[in-house]
Amino acid sequence: MRELRGIGASPGGAAGPVYRLAPPPALPPLVEPVDPEAEKTAVRAAVLAVAADLTRRADTALEATAAEVLRAQVMMAQDETLIDAADIAIDGGADAPHAITDVLAGHRAVFEAAGGYLAERVSDLDDLRDRLVAACLGQPMPGVPDPGHPYLLIARDLAPADTAGLEPAMVLGLVTAEGGPTSHTAILARTLGIPAVVRCAGILDVADGALASLDGASGVVVAGVSAETVTTVNADRLAEIERRARSHGPGRTADGHPVALLANIGSARDITGEVEGVGLFRTELLYLDRVDPPSHEEQVAAYRDVFAALPGRKVVVRTLDAGADKPLPFLRLADEPNPALGVRGLRVARQAPSVLTAQLAAIAAAAAATDADVWVMAPMVATVAEAAAFTESCREHGLPTAGVMIEVPAAALRASQLMCHADFLSVGTNDLSQYTFAADRMCGDLADLLDPWQPALIALLASCAAAGVEAGKPVGVCGESAADPSFALVLAGLGITSLSMAPRSIPAVRESLAAHTVNECRQIAEAALAAPSPEAARAAAAGASRQLRFGDGVSVR
Ligand code: PEP
Ligand code: MG
Repeated sequence: MRELRGIGASPGGAAGPVYRLAPPPALPPLVEPVDPEAEKTAVRAAVLAVAADLTRRADTALEATAAEVLRAQVMMAQDETLIDAADIAIDGGADAPHAITDVLAGHRAVFEAAGGYLAERVSDLDDLRDRLVAACLGQPMPGVPDPGHPYLLIARDLAPADTAGLEPAMVLGLVTAEGGPTSHTAILARTLGIPAVVRCAGILDVADGALASLDGASGVVVAGVSAETVTTVNADRLAEIERRARSHGPGRTADGHPVALLANIGSARDITGEVEGVGLFRTELLYLDRVDPPSHEEQVAAYRDVFAALPGRKVVVRTLDAGADKPLPFLRLADEPNPALGVRGLRVARQAPSVLTAQLAAIAAAAAATDADVWVMAPMVATVAEAAAFTESCREHGLPTAGVMIEVPAAALRASQLMCHADFLSVGTNDLSQYTFAADRMCGDLADLLDPWQPALIALLASCAAAGVEAGKPVGVCGESAADPSFALVLAGLGITSLSMAPRSIPAVRESLAAHTVNECRQIAEAALAAPSPEAARAAAAGASRQLRFGDGVSVR
């Protein structure tokens, strides 16, 4: 048996034979084409075939996020400039596969040089190149294997096209050698409920068919396990899924202290099962890949779809969070050396105020047409003045419940003052970690700094929660940290009033809260706050939890 360590990216245990992603096609030696026109036709045919295949995958993708990523890839494939550049390469002596490879290598260099979100899209471009070359060579599309039985998928990294087509019934778990905890592989695995480990060095040395197990919470992968282990791990997982499917009802601690468990969504399609409400409706999907902003009617329809699905329940709509890792072409934002520190989130309203006011008007119109309890919040608020201006604008549009996200340390430090204007706060721990630790959230190599158990992040969360308690106003958390069942205890103990996460993560968090009293959560939070490192914070919280539950020491009941 061999133990490998990666980063847990999607919780749960899984075991089975491993199979790797079908390799990309090997580029044959260049042969100067005798008929350049035939090569140009081959490029066009490859584009048509690949775009059709990706569109089919997008249409059948189970998740809205996956579908959007695939449609973005279709747009890249159909980009006229790609075909024009391939024609020029063919006129220069390349055959179709080499022309495609050369042109996409140029695009790749531009994406890499841009850094941030675009650099993360490099794997989408590589995937597109492999698909187009395979189509030119008449080879099958590279990608997910189909051994005819459930298995663990291993890969260097996964392209969105691969992840979107994953069937949770067949792919029991996945392990990648590269990628980070905020890469699309990790986010989609979490959305699909497939246990996953990323950045697992050595996984590609494990032979196809070998039995392995993975723990998507701790990031531990064991290669060479027995058939009995495979049966036990998968039976445990199944029992856990079945037990959680039966769990329902609002989030509460063992002694009935309410902590609302809300869903993070990008569109109405993401609302699965019974949810207490939506704690983060990311509205960027509506604006992606467009040259013009969506019309009032289009926006109203999209918001109404979501509100109508949740009558009487809370829906927190986040206004457009453009820029940095979410570039939106229609805004024509200037190139910046540090986009994450530039004009993004609410700051876009400085340059394009009408985009925000048009969105607020559309949210208000959709809210008026349904019975949902609509709350609105702005991303990337840094100052009290920004909070005051935003909440005032919401009220002018007839939106009575207006809040702000805490994603910038400056805002966390002034949480009490923000509360003089805002009706609620919602902490976006993904960005708050990035800005507190000056560590790009897209950078897998800095994952240790982006760990929500970092005591400095917990301290900022504590002061936001305390500001909420003092003001008698709600303070929620809607970053990825809210989905960690152990960290949820810390958050509840600090006084956070709601946790918002991918709907599939809710049952595990509900279960964790239900097993502890609010006083136990407070002691767990204190233990984590006092720890000198994330490892110590985790251990202290786990120790406090065990001690409290098994009466091994201090009892708080
Ligand atoms: C966050 O930053 O934690 C957050 C929820 O927003 P996003 O991940 O969309 O930036
Ligand atoms: Mg954010």
